[in-house]
Amino acid sequence: MDDIIIVGAGIGGLTLGLALHAAGIPCRIFESALEIRPVGVGINLLPHATKELAALGLEPALAEASIATADATFFNRFGQLIYQEPLGRAAGYEHPQFSIHRGDLQRILLEAFVARAGRERLNTGHHCTAVEQDEAGVDVHFSNAPGGTSRTVVRGRAAIACDGIHSAVRRQLYPGEGEPCYSGVNMWRGVTRWKPILSGASMVRAGWLSHGKMVIYPIRPAGADGLQLVNWVAEIETPVYRKRDWNRPGAIDDFIGAFADWHFDWLDVPAFIRSADSVLEFPMVDQDPLPRWSFGRATLLGDAAHPMVPRGSNGAGQAILDARALVSALLEHTDPAAALASYEQQRLDATARVVLANRANPPDAILREVFQRTNDRPFKDIDDVISRDELVGLTESYKRIAGYSKEALRG
Ligand SMILES: Cc1cc2nc3c(=O)[nH]c(=O)nc-3n(C[C@H](O)[C@H](O)[C@H](O)COP(=O)(O)OP(=O)(O)OC[C@H]3O[C@@H](n4cnc5c(N)ncnc54)[C@H](O)[C@@H]3O)c2cc1C
Repeated sequence: MDDIIIVGAGIGGLTLGLALHAAGIPCRIFESALEIRPVGVGINLLPHATKELAALGLEPALAEASIATADATFFNRFGQLIYQEPLGRAAGYEHPQFSIHRGDLQRILLEAFVARAGRERLNTGHHCTAVEQDEAGVDVHFSNAPGGTSRTVVRGRAAIACDGIHSAVRRQLYPGEGEPCYSGVNMWRGVTRWKPILSGASMVRAGWLSHGKMVIYPIRPAGADGLQLVNWVAEIETPVYRKRDWNRPGAIDDFIGAFADWHFDWLDVPAFIRSADSVLEFPMVDQDPLPRWSFGRATLLGDAAHPMVPRGSNGAGQAILDARALVSALLEHTDPAAALASYEQQRLDATARVVLANRANPPDAILREVFQRTNDRPFKDIDDVISRDELVGLTESYKRIAGYSKEALRG
């Protein structure tokens, strides 16, 4: 009854569970899946998020499983270098940027939660269907699976919906919200085992959305064969897309034409794509920021609260920052409703700014500027196209909005 009920054992829910446990606040996590399997492909944790995970004692485990990403490197579709900047510790941050397989990240969080809080505090096969509340507590309703007929109700002090982009609780709170906003860009995501590209810790962005853009970065250290697991995303503007589903398989022939002549000295892109272990398809969608997340003893966190297009490596990070803010608010206020309201006040506007910046001016705005100014032609000298100050300005302004400028983290 005194527990905080966490709905969803994804990145946000597990981080929240670990942070609550560390603060001495009892919680239980309820996850829809019967078994937590290593699904997804690559994900990035920027220094604002790795700072929080380090505070939970997770940096060594993360460092072992991931790549400490050292540079962001931007090219046009002719393979010409536009801009390069250091990232994470290489850029002088106190905390690293980690690029990691989502399954590895979830496993590290899950193992830590089970070891610290106890296996009995993690309940799988619990699909949330509704949340109800009265003066004294919340009742969270579950079925044994999506559409399942076996029902249970769990009572707690507050309910935190960390149930991701298809959040049942968000749907309950905003029944008329409608479909997600399609950005006009469809994505194909995959992983390929490949020898280290550029520095072996580079995050590459190349091309532009109208004819095809690639994002490429390694997510696991090289094995004995010298190959890294390299994540890639192909992004192309098209009116054609299918409903969002993290696990929908994709077909290489649907998009490889856009990259057919991308044979660069630093990577043969078509050969790299064709060597993929797996390919998934996902539309680039988000939802308009909500006016409110907290309703008495219930609130939203992570993608359930603020789904964003993945153009700034910030989805997981913002969920982790939400968790930290919520725990601070619960420590500060004995009344859970007051705590949830204070959490919303700290995080709603901040994350809305990231959602909107990801639509308009994420870091890859650099590629758009060069694409437009060169009329999609090769350049002789990048300095004739765009000044270094302007390039730095574009990336620094996003860092400030998303909360990971060096000044913000030092503060
Ligand atoms: C299967 C999957 C694959 C993903 N792959 C990638 C990827 O490759 N790259 C990337 O950048 N991001 C990926 N994401 C999204 C990424 O994890 C999030 O954007 C981000 O980390 C924020 O985390 P979150 O905890 O808010 O949501 P998520 O990490 O999505 O976690 C939500 C959790 O809630 C559970 N859940 C959903 N509905 C219910 C319900 N009704 N009741 C109980 N539990 C529920 C889900 O099973 C999931 O475990 C993936 C998410 C999922 C679920």
